[in-house]
Amino acid sequence: MAAFDFDLFVIGGGSGGVRAARMAAQRGARVALAEQGGTEGLGGTCVNVGCIPKKLYSYAAHYAEGFEEARGYGWEGEPFKLNWQTLKANRKREISRLNAVYLNLLMGSGVRVMNAHARLTGPHEVQVDGESWSAKNILIATGGTPHVPDIVGAELVVTSNAMFDLEPFPRRLLVVGGGYIACEFASIFNGLGASVTQLYRGEQVLRGFDDDVRHFLAAELRKTGVDLRLVADVGLVTKTSDGLEVLVTGHRPEPYAVTVDTILYATGRVPNVQGMGLRELGVVLGRDGGIAIDENYRTSVPSIYALGDVTARVQLTPVALGEAMALADHLFGPAAGRPVRGMSYQFIPTAVFTHPNVGTVGFSEADARARFGAVTVYRSEFKALKHTLSGSSERTLMKLVVEDATDRVVGLHMVGADAGDIVQGFAVAMKAGATKAVFDSTIGIHPTAAEEFVTMREAVKAAA
Ligand code: FAD
Ligand code: NDP
Repeated sequence: MAAFDFDLFVIGGGSGGVRAARMAAQRGARVALAEQGGTEGLGGTCVNVGCIPKKLYSYAAHYAEGFEEARGYGWEGEPFKLNWQTLKANRKREISRLNAVYLNLLMGSGVRVMNAHARLTGPHEVQVDGESWSAKNILIATGGTPHVPDIVGAELVVTSNAMFDLEPFPRRLLVVGGGYIACEFASIFNGLGASVTQLYRGEQVLRGFDDDVRHFLAAELRKTGVDLRLVADVGLVTKTSDGLEVLVTGHRPEPYAVTVDTILYATGRVPNVQGMGLRELGVVLGRDGGIAIDENYRTSVPSIYALGDVTARVQLTPVALGEAMALADHLFGPAAGRPVRGMSYQFIPTAVFTHPNVGTVGFSEADARARFGAVTVYRSEFKALKHTLSGSSERTLMKLVVEDATDRVVGLHMVGADAGDIVQGFAVAMKAGATKAVFDSTIGIHPTAAEEFVTMREAVKAAA
């Protein structure tokens, strides 16, 4: 008889947990997975309240621009109107389909799925719904939760979790924050027809991104109609007969009031580590409150592993997936005929799905200068061909940062249509160590915006 009920018990059915469970089961391990959201929670944040519904709503918002721009191409007729109920219902249907796909994938791989909250009761023991299960290895992949700071009136604000099902559609929306979620939702709801004010406490949105990208994006957001206010924060929120009144503090000498229907707080996420018995077991947390792990995702308790957002490192779905595959190989060996997978944290590409998109891979100019010393920068700003007739004033930014000593392209940044899709391909070249000479010798695809990345010849700044 086996010493344990399972070889691997996975807590959390999100991006990382589902992938780890499936990969482990495919390698012959006996695997269980517990998801507190039931089968409707399968897929986790990304599928239910993150990447997927967000991108669907972003597509919806892009139509507004499309209808407007089509006139320059000769299209005439009444403008379309958004039916918010239809959008919500269609999104719900698609997410339910995905939940079922995830369930089928797990069951098809032989994973035992439990639809309840799980708690650790020993280094090899998990309790679900009052029942105890033993496992040789336990994986914590419980993700994160939005964090709302302690302000007066916090009970009147919502987080990104609630944005997809708002009722009614918010005519006036206030977004607090300057990170991924704040910028994306400000853009998306602006496109869907809300009047959007965005407050960010710092000097410029998207801290950590390349400075040119940050300034360029802020200008583009404003052009699309987002009322972006920098060095601004919420002092207090009160309910009035006309909606929610927000007292804004910041760079103006006196606080001033803004009245809106909905207030979205997008001020970061915290790891889901509460109520799981971690402290009792001695599972050590790191500086940002995430579970501390070694290079093989092992926590301070040798039989317990953790990955994805709960480790408070890089909070992106493809990173959680990559970590899950690396862990499955580490614990149960690689798939037949394949080498053991590792996970590289260098040159992780990322996109912010604002209108227009941001796409980026590698170092910002400032970080590249700090890391490599002398770098050469290439920068191009232009109106995309599409907008010569569309009437849109949207502009595109592209930027390359090249390490002088090696000629290697160490930073690639774009603000413009489909930047996420465009940057993905360049990320492969950069992982492979492509130099500027390789970029220069690559033939462009004409006429596209992306060809600009292989035709930039004039350095805009002398090497430092
Ligand atoms: P999650 O996907 O959060 O899964 C954790 C799961 O664990 C949840 O289903 C939760 O219910 C469950 N759980 C928690 N505690 C327990 C327990 N004790 N017992 C049982 N189950 C439990 N990333 C991108 O790459 N691209 C994007 O475009 C993107 N957009 C995003 C938009 C938004 C609005 C948000 C919030 C996030 C977005 N992300 C995006 C980030 C991405 O969603 C996360 O990085 C990813 O989901 C992390 O996966 P995970 O497996 O670590 O955790
Ligand atoms: P971010 O960390 O990206 O941004 C948080 C923002 O809130 C920052 O602008 C921060 O300001 C601000 N902030 C933090 N605390 C306060 C406070 N007390 N008062 C006012 N402002 C505050 O977090 P998000 O919530 O936007 O997203 C979480 C993560 O999810 C992202 O980091 C990303 O990894 C992932 N994600 C990825 C997406 C994608 O891939 N497209 C889309 C959405 C999310 P400051 O910078 O000054 O600290």
